[in-house]
Amino acid sequence: MRGAERTPLSGDWDVLICGASFAGLAVARELAGSGARVLVVDRYEIGERQTSACGIPTEWLRVLGLMESHRQTFGRLVIHTPHGTSVLDLPWTFSTFDYPALCSLLWDQCDAQFETAKVNGRTGNVVHTDRGDLSAPLVVDALGWRRVLGGGYQPPDAPLSRGLEVHPWGVGDDMELWIDRRYVPAGYGWSFPAGDETRIGVGSFDPRFHVKDTTVMLAEDLEREPVRYQGNWIPHRLRAATGDGIFFVGDSAGHCLPLTAEGIRTALYFGIACGRELRSVVEGRQPIAAALVRYGDFSQSHRWKFEAMLAAQKLVPRVPPPILHRGIRAMQAKRFVDWSFGHYLGIAAPAFAAAGPPSRGAGHAPVSIAA
Ligand SMILES: Cc1cc2nc3c(=O)[nH]c(=O)nc-3n(C[C@H](O)[C@H](O)[C@H](O)COP(=O)(O)OP(=O)(O)OC[C@H]3O[C@@H](n4cnc5c(N)ncnc54)[C@H](O)[C@@H]3O)c2cc1C
Repeated sequence: MRGAERTPLSGDWDVLICGASFAGLAVARELAGSGARVLVVDRYEIGERQTSACGIPTEWLRVLGLMESHRQTFGRLVIHTPHGTSVLDLPWTFSTFDYPALCSLLWDQCDAQFETAKVNGRTGNVVHTDRGDLSAPLVVDALGWRRVLGGGYQPPDAPLSRGLEVHPWGVGDDMELWIDRRYVPAGYGWSFPAGDETRIGVGSFDPRFHVKDTTVMLAEDLEREPVRYQGNWIPHRLRAATGDGIFFVGDSAGHCLPLTAEGIRTALYFGIACGRELRSVVEGRQPIAAALVRYGDFSQSHRWKFEAMLAAQKLVPRVPPPILHRGIRAMQAKRFVDWSFGHYLGIAAPAFAAAGPPSRGAGHAPVSIAA
């Protein structure tokens, strides 16, 4: 809603989810049928502003019933360095999807209420928005890297990467990466075809490196027009997933994988984990304090994997390019690809979503929410 339509908004809900992208919608989806009064707020309409290149392991789309948003599938990853090209045959496929379609499909699986509102901050469990104050005993910050409800995060000093991409029309066959210092000293360039458009971008692990010029350069090298920009900061360090009674999910908790900047499936994965804990609170199976501890511990139990990927992120730019190329070429060995990509998928495996309840339409009457 804009202008005069932006009417005052206030009230009290059982669960208040701030942010309606991957993380927030995954939390809301887990609460469907619980009987809880759930409000989701975002400054934009659901699916209005694409936040990524929208590449994800295909199985994640399938287990969540989101295949209708699917655009294109890839069974191999093509990696270019200045010294040659390597092709990794993946043990599972990766897909690109349509962002508005995916958000709309996720929202169809929720039974929450939605309002557009810009979140400005909070006092305790009262969230201040540009339309008024909202409150709930269970508050989720799924607002992305700014972590608005947790004291904020400021580039360029915070542990953030930055990414920018263009979306020219035109088809392609391969999911391609460039590890090439002409484009970025620490990071990589990408080209993700998605049906009739291709998403071409550059991500820098160093927040001080400006990626605009080299994004344009990569697009022009691929003979594509640098049009329809989209970019953002990307957190690359895990943060506490709970604090001062608030649940943080997705980029707001640093749930994006540091080496690859893959943050969609982890936002969905931790969103599901958070949603399950909240559901058990609204159904009277545990108090809020227990949910905070359990969800915080669950996120923390992944720390060593995130730290290992962060160490690799820092190491790769230091490896001389000819040696890096030889290393990537050696990685083409089928057994190694199967092993490494199997572990990589296992960090946030699609089976986690498949295993979960939620018992849709069960219509439990929520019991009083215990602190
Ligand atoms: C250029 C680029 C390409 C990327 N490509 C990929 C990729 O292909 N695959 C992948 O896995 N990851 C990719 N990522 C990373 C991925 O986009 C993020 O990790 C992911 O979007 C995190 O999801 P989220 O729901 O936590 O946050 P977001 O998707 O950032 O969503 C945050 C939501 O909060 C809303 N919001 C923010 N502030 C406020 C406020 N003050 N008030 C109200 N609403 C607010 C926003 O409108 C948005 O809807 C990419 C990132 C970039 C920058």
